Amino acid sequence: MSLRLSHLIGGQAVTATRGAWLDVFEPATGQAYAQCPDGDADDVAAAVAAARQAFPAWSALPASDRAAWIERLADALEARLDEFAAAESRDVGKPLALARNLDIPRAVSNLRFFAAAATQFASESHSAPGIVNYTLRQPLGVVGVISPWNLPLYLFTWKFAPALAAGNCVVGKPSEVTPVTAWMLGEVAREIGFPPGVFNIVQGRGAAVGQALVDHPQVKAISFTGSTAVGTRIAESCARSLKKTSLELGGKNPTLVFADAPKAKLLDTVVRSAFLNSGQICLCGSRLLVERGYYGEFRDALVARAKALVVGDPQDPATTTGPVVSKPHFDKVMACIALAKAEGGRVLCGGDAVQPAGRCADGWFIAPTVIEGLGPDCRTNTEEIFGPVVTLQAFDTEDEALALANAVPYGLAASLWTSDLGRAHRLADRIEAGVVWVNTWMNRDLRTPFGGVKQSGLGREGGWEALRFFTEAKNVTIDL
Ligand code: NAD
Repeated sequence: MSLRLSHLIGGQAVTATRGAWLDVFEPATGQAYAQCPDGDADDVAAAVAAARQAFPAWSALPASDRAAWIERLADALEARLDEFAAAESRDVGKPLALARNLDIPRAVSNLRFFAAAATQFASESHSAPGIVNYTLRQPLGVVGVISPWNLPLYLFTWKFAPALAAGNCVVGKPSEVTPVTAWMLGEVAREIGFPPGVFNIVQGRGAAVGQALVDHPQVKAISFTGSTAVGTRIAESCARSLKKTSLELGGKNPTLVFADAPKAKLLDTVVRSAFLNSGQICLCGSRLLVERGYYGEFRDALVARAKALVVGDPQDPATTTGPVVSKPHFDKVMACIALAKAEGGRVLCGGDAVQPAGRCADGWFIAPTVIEGLGPDCRTNTEEIFGPVVTLQAFDTEDEALALANAVPYGLAASLWTSDLGRAHRLADRIEAGVVWVNTWMNRDLRTPFGGVKQSGLGREGGWEALRFFTEAKNVTIDL
């Protein structure tokens, strides 16, 4: 095994301090191919200390100078886009084209967007006769960002870019399941001489490194993306020290299809929303709710499309669907399919593991799976699966569609397909979700608020929301 990753602490590559390592697997082959430091609370303490030391100088820089550093990091990442895309594809199992066209370009955009945004983020002032108020937005100090494995560099940059842009110093913890591109970005930061200590990365397990970061008294805020179970534990820990938290959690997103849906992009988009990244995107539409009069036609067309997806080697340009990320996750998704059958679901396509020939014979592949015949209350239709598995349910009326859409504990995103403008507005208003797309899906403008309601999270990311989260408002009142 050749590749050994390191932490980035105080601008230095720090290898496993206790000599403990975690294996990193290639999901397409099922083989370990790298080792990641199995960090601990001492590594977190060292990173926080480095970040605290760097904070006064970094926060005192004019926003334009901080923006220039973040832009330099974006330039260096963009210059190595192919290398990063190949690494992300290998680490997550996602098709190379997806990493090349979505993940890494979006990571570059995240850096550039928040570099630019920081230069436009201003104080507010409110004057009245004889009185002027102005509200300063001051960085918090050292902040922790914790990210998941499904969109590794995309979500890691989405969190640390606004934190740095607002003047904070960061200790980041990528997922131990997919740690490689964060490590590579740390190496890039060192190469361009990014100010030491401003941006630190500690690799390792959630229960060790993540928890130590959450519990560290000098960490002023935690921005977390991951499962609802872990997010809830983090909220409990942060409550004890009144640490600011932003939580982007799980989803069980509905796609509502009315018979009058504009058909041109419908199936392409619904198939993407169901199966992109093997269904491992928090925004994926996993519950397809279809108006009864159109149900049969839609179902048959969807199943034909799902069967036509090419499951296989992420490096093969013909592949549309790679493996799921890990053996435990493969087992979980297969157990969810077995549960759906036990609950009375009819598997219309997929439902099985796939064993490609050649180098991917031992990979963790699952055929795109469509299930019908289950009601809204069963576990299959209420619990997050996070794999290439969707269910179909029929509805008769707009109210019934709404009731089905809202019949889950989650509320992250919804995609709604209709030509009736009035209906689109009525439903968008009443759907319990932080993000509603009408006749589109995963159409993101980085200026817009992003986040979930109910069990899908707390707080919003994106645009000013992120910069507000990573700053503290201080109002100053002057009697003139
Ligand atoms: P996870 O919750 O298992 O892990 C996420 C991160 O938290 C990892 O880095 C992990 O090491 C860390 N962690 C685990 N235990 C911890 C603890 N006790 N303290 C601190 N950190 C800890 O999630 P995952 O399996 O990596 O990711 C999949 C989940 O993420 C899904 O539920 C998905 O819906 C969700 N997700 C949400 C969004 C969103 O924007 N809402 C985006 C992507 C993924």
